[in-house]
Amino acid sequence: MHPKNNRIVDIVPEVKEWRQWLHRNPELLFDLPKTSRYIADRLKEIGVDEIHENIAETGIVAVINGSSEGPTLGLRAEMDALPIKEASNEPHASQTPGKMHACGHDGHSAMLLGAAKYLAETRNFAGKAALIFQPAEEGGVGAKAILDDGILNRLGVNEVYGMHNIPNLPIGHFGLCEGPTLAATDFFYVEIEGHGGHASRPHKCIDPLVAANAIYSGFQSIITRNADPMKNGLISITAMQAGEANNVIPQTASLKGTVRNLHEDTRDIIEQRMHDIVEGVAACYDVRVELVYDRLCPVTFNHSEQFRYAAEAAVDIVGQDNVDVEQPARLGGEDFSFMLQENPGCIIFVGNGETAGLHHPQYDFNDEALPYGIAFWAKIVEDRLRHANQAGARDPGLSTAVSRSPGASMTP
Ligand SMILES: [Zn+2]
Ligand SMILES: [Zn+2]
Repeated sequence: MHPKNNRIVDIVPEVKEWRQWLHRNPELLFDLPKTSRYIADRLKEIGVDEIHENIAETGIVAVINGSSEGPTLGLRAEMDALPIKEASNEPHASQTPGKMHACGHDGHSAMLLGAAKYLAETRNFAGKAALIFQPAEEGGVGAKAILDDGILNRLGVNEVYGMHNIPNLPIGHFGLCEGPTLAATDFFYVEIEGHGGHASRPHKCIDPLVAANAIYSGFQSIITRNADPMKNGLISITAMQAGEANNVIPQTASLKGTVRNLHEDTRDIIEQRMHDIVEGVAACYDVRVELVYDRLCPVTFNHSEQFRYAAEAAVDIVGQDNVDVEQPARLGGEDFSFMLQENPGCIIFVGNGETAGLHHPQYDFNDEALPYGIAFWAKIVEDRLRHANQAGARDPGLSTAVSRSPGASMTP
């Protein structure tokens, strides 16, 4: 598994240092001055051909030219951390109280830097690798901000790949699936205004709590009665707030929560029914109701052809037994979905081993995953930019994807 002469294994110790530096220095959303400076400095040392900084505020897109002309492949990593107080007790734990890399974006950025180092040294591909370091994946839709900048179009990016670690998928394993893989993710906010007053005189008040209760129950029925049972999703009402005192009927009440689903038509049905229900409740209980429905990310949809290329690359690295090509879709969301709407591509999951879950205070990216992630990036560039030059010369079918390549040299 770990041949000593392998270039990727040779660069892993340095990548581990980068990863742990990023872990010690977490920053949030678009506000990543230290992180993006550190990554840009590493890219300059590595000797990439172009560095585009301050894309979508703190994003970076670096370009590495292959040894001959060809198309441009986009590889995406996130840079931002989360507003969580770290409890990992690791020596490289966050040095900023209340912020931590709890989603492994430190590892994702480090693996892409590792791939940059390998690709800039070897250049064994025809075309360009565009390495996209994006801000604000955690609730800031940074991927869309990168797209809005237009840089990917200016660089002629033809295809995009993303990678995310998954706790409890073993180290040295990959998982992916074709089609919908992560959920469309929306947030909603309901504000109800009644007429407050003395709790002993409810007939002189309009109680917003009764309306809140009706909306709560009504929303639950959308999933069971309106959405196609075979294309279901979820509505989680995560907060309900109203009132303080025992003897006061409050003036207002509010609810909020999230909607997730794997099918855009289900998403449309849910949003429409939520509006219908709040309008009906407003009429029924004589309250004023406002619903704000915020569409954050679309369904993360892996395109068939690129799914097969990603599966093939993963199988070449770790063997067929260690790649689950039918990994169940998840109801987490990912703003990489916006990049997959604009370009064909695929997101793949890399095993993080037995660690705390994502967004948990004890989570830490597992450095043992580094060589696998770096190898995947290197392999997909060398494979895709070779295939593109031989268009039509090779059938990229799943039979190819799951047959082990005897010549694979990237095994970490
Ligand atoms: Zn996250
Ligand atoms: Zn993440």
